[in-house]
Amino acid sequence: MKPLRNKQKLVITDGRIPGQERVLESQLESDVLSDGGSVDSITTSTIRPCECGCFQPPAGRCELCKSLSCVSCHGHCQGCNAPICRECSVFVGLPGGKAARYCQGCYSKIKQQTRTAAIVQFLLSPIVSFKDQSNEGK
Ligand SMILES: [Zn+2]
Ligand SMILES: [Zn+2]
Ligand SMILES: [Zn+2]
Repeated sequence: MKPLRNKQKLVITDGRIPGQERVLESQLESDVLSDGGSVDSITTSTIRPCECGCFQPPAGRCELCKSLSCVSCHGHCQGCNAPICRECSVFVGLPGGKAARYCQGCYSKIKQQTRTAAIVQFLLSPIVSFKDQSNEGK
């Protein structure tokens, strides 16, 4: 049935920078003529507090993908301190059950560093053990 009237209501953030306003809630109200002859009003509301899909207050914008994430999804990279969302974060398990959050860039650097450290240790290990043996001999 074709609506008699459509009324749209948008709840947006107070955009201090033009073009930075974000739609928090969109509401569509349609007046339709029912079979019984009455004019019925149907309202549909869509609520989007955060782009991460959570219904928690927004905490900040991700530096990488520019999406707004909530207090539980948003965090900072432990390497460069950039604000990042859960999607762009790599969690590295730490001893003690904790996890460190890194951005993609810092994570690949750390991965490279640990790999280089492992190779260096492997290359040095025969020398170290040789030294140890010679020390023992003295
Ligand atoms: Zn969230
Ligand atoms: Zn992101
Ligand atoms: Zn980083």
